[in-house]
Amino acid sequence: MSILTNKQNLPQQIVSAIMRDPYSRGEAHISVTQLIQPPRIIQLRKRYDDKIEEDASDRIWSLLGQTCHKILERSDDTGAMHEERIGIEVNGWWISGQSDCYITEQKNYLTGEYETIKPTIRDYKFIKTMAADFAHPDWEQQLNILAYLWREQGFPVDSLEIVAIFRDWSKAYFERGNYPPPAKVFKQKLWTHEAQEAFVMQRVLLHQKAEEMDDKWLPHCTPEEQWRKAPTWAIRHPKRVKAVRVLKTLTEAEAYIKNELNGDKHYYAEHRPGGATRCESFCDVAPFCSQYQYEKEADAKQAA
Ligand code: SF4
Repeated sequence: MSILTNKQNLPQQIVSAIMRDPYSRGEAHISVTQLIQPPRIIQLRKRYDDKIEEDASDRIWSLLGQTCHKILERSDDTGAMHEERIGIEVNGWWISGQSDCYITEQKNYLTGEYETIKPTIRDYKFIKTMAADFAHPDWEQQLNILAYLWREQGFPVDSLEIVAIFRDWSKAYFERGNYPPPAKVFKQKLWTHEAQEAFVMQRVLLHQKAEEMDDKWLPHCTPEEQWRKAPTWAIRHPKRVKAVRVLKTLTEAEAYIKNELNGDKHYYAEHRPGGATRCESFCDVAPFCSQYQYEKEADAKQAA
């Protein structure tokens, strides 16, 4: 059990609700969510579980997400399956995953008619609006592994979708344009059953090998897994939510303002530092990770 802290002094009932999170991957060796994560993170979490600190404030969106999942179940009265946990054995490991919704029929809210739809796995996510602009390969991977589990159990799957609810949505920004509605469907690419099977096997083998390794030999997280960003310069205007353009160097940014924006003094270049965002702010095993400590020291030397 990791250590739950309350550094921001959240109300007691919120902290208690977080502490009583009923989530469990059951008897499985690994869950679908873990399978798509870097083996380094999964192993370090297992090995340092009793030393890892997690603050209640970092779990607040997950808590809200659980509440919304429950409420969204009432959107459906067709007998769709909600929060169904299924599992299969792969190379001696039990893999389990929970789908937010598996649905083959839905009610048209305008006509009240029921209509048959493609067998669909639907997952709800509560994300920031800026996340709508990025690719999310992990969404596609997660839903395809779930599809594999359903198909292996004899259920057809012909469509995958993420229903995103934007937790920081603003009506004022929406009215200015170029901004999403408060909730949006993101269709995900459905792989063939063979491609899903190959991917699942590859991930299982990767995690199984990591089990046998000392900390220092664990496979390194890739730059993508570290959410590593190169430093950039964003061209901003005080009255616009989003940057007009993001460029790699200050020289390019200044030239853009001069040549493309006619030197308009309202525009300015804002430095966005690069770095490994996940390691720095979102990885609870960072204090135990030799890769991160080594790279941090190397970056500091380079900056000096
Ligand atoms: S700190 Fe960074 S490199 Fe280390 S496990 Fe976490 S994400 Fe991977």
